[in-house]
Amino acid sequence: MCPGCDIALGMQDAATTQHPLATLVQDAARTPLAPGFEPEQPDDDQSLYAARLKVYPQRVSGTFRRVKWAVLLVTLGIYYLLPFVRWDRGVNAPGQAVLIDFPNGRFYFFFIEIWPQEFYYLTGLLIVAAMALFLMNAVAGRLWCGYLCPQTVWTDVFQAIERWTEGDRREHLQRDRQPWTLNRLARAGTKHFLWIMVAWWTGGAWVLYFADAPTLVKDLATFQAPLIAYAFIGLLTFTTYALAGWMREQVCVYMCPWPRIQAALTDEYALNVTYRYDRGEPRASVKKAAVLHQQGLPAGDCIDCLQCVHVCPTGIDIRGGPNLGCIQCGLCIDACDAVMEKIGRPARLIAFDTDINIKRRQQGEKPFYSIVRTRTVLYAAIIVVVSAVMAYALATRRDHAINVLHDRNPLFVQLSDGSLRNAYTMRILNKSLAERSFVLNVTGLQEFDIDVIGSSSFVGANPLIDVGPDQSREVRVLVTARERVPATSVPVTFTIVPKTGGTLLSVHDHFFGP
Ligand code: SF4
Ligand code: SF4
Repeated sequence: MCPGCDIALGMQDAATTQHPLATLVQDAARTPLAPGFEPEQPDDDQSLYAARLKVYPQRVSGTFRRVKWAVLLVTLGIYYLLPFVRWDRGVNAPGQAVLIDFPNGRFYFFFIEIWPQEFYYLTGLLIVAAMALFLMNAVAGRLWCGYLCPQTVWTDVFQAIERWTEGDRREHLQRDRQPWTLNRLARAGTKHFLWIMVAWWTGGAWVLYFADAPTLVKDLATFQAPLIAYAFIGLLTFTTYALAGWMREQVCVYMCPWPRIQAALTDEYALNVTYRYDRGEPRASVKKAAVLHQQGLPAGDCIDCLQCVHVCPTGIDIRGGPNLGCIQCGLCIDACDAVMEKIGRPARLIAFDTDINIKRRQQGEKPFYSIVRTRTVLYAAIIVVVSAVMAYALATRRDHAINVLHDRNPLFVQLSDGSLRNAYTMRILNKSLAERSFVLNVTGLQEFDIDVIGSSSFVGANPLIDVGPDQSREVRVLVTARERVPATSVPVTFTIVPKTGGTLLSVHDHFFGP
């Protein structure tokens, strides 16, 4: 069966029957060409590889640039300084506000302490983060890429260092065309040294989230820190230096999957950095526009000065329409606004807008802006619901927990006196910062004994299990039924309650017999 059309060719006919597409191709080949027209011959040896054109983004100032600096300062400030923020949790707990404690299996975030058994909080957090990204995208395109993505933030820092050491776009371009001199070498050397320093500090800050920061800084400086810390600092220094210093816009254009996902998630009402071609075309210099106007011919506001292209960190021309390489940073808006101000024309020839609005304006209709749409409401609702569920779960979480696992093999043991014994592995979590004893009970059987291996204390017939502060303890529990069990499987319930009083927690399992 031919997949491209509904013509089936039997295998026995294939040798003699001409495929209709082949007939079309032959007909086309016989069609006479227009005189003088030379069709382009496909070059099988032509490479699909295009060499990278180095981008030299020009310095720009304006509203969006100021917002980008502010976001950069806040995000980098949080990243570098957060490990040094202290949080008093008591004597038996770490005093670092944000800490990923791998050896003890804990994640601390200010007043929240997450145990490995509570990983569903991370799932909730990931859902909220994904929905926030989708919402941002539905409202104003790739805001994340332009302002918050670590690749953008660190590239901005590295480009600022480059402009400081090697000069702005024009100066840097000229210098790159000249032979190497001592001055050029010194500038390039200073740039790479500063890049490596920033990259090293980035890697250094990362490891501080995994141990007590002040102690680790001291250990790192005196070469007492674990080898893994140095290894991670080295790895992150290299990746930061390579990604933000060398690869830059290549990461956004070729490596990152988000632009492709974003393109599939966006809709015609999402604001994107848009060249208002209805206003800008046809392009003409100020002088030429004046002449055209005198002749009664149209001339747009774009003077083709290329300032919007020169400031673009990914080196694209937004006037060509929506582009996968556009990270929606808005710097071209600042550049164009400055040009418009100089030549006395209204700002926002490039603006956060939609193609629909351009068409509406061309048809004499009012532009339409709508943040409240089905998808934005849906994303916002999911964020609110998941956050509310997480907040409720956090507010009502117990400071102790219990898990029980029945032995798989054997399911039961018959003792010499005829009684039946089932064995369980029980884990009790004591999330409080004080040592506590828990009273264990089992319900569901009539005549039975409970034994906890390693525990000889009892309250009445109920074993007492001691668990250290902020720790979990695994114990073996043996339940022996002294009477005949009524079925091969009897539902039983394990309960624990702190000896000093507190919430009774229960978990269900089964007692097996022959
Ligand atoms: S086209 Fe404009 S908004 Fe897009 S990346 Fe370039 S400067 Fe930023
Ligand atoms: S900066 Fe403005 S005027 Fe200059 S080329 Fe870009 S869109 Fe045209």
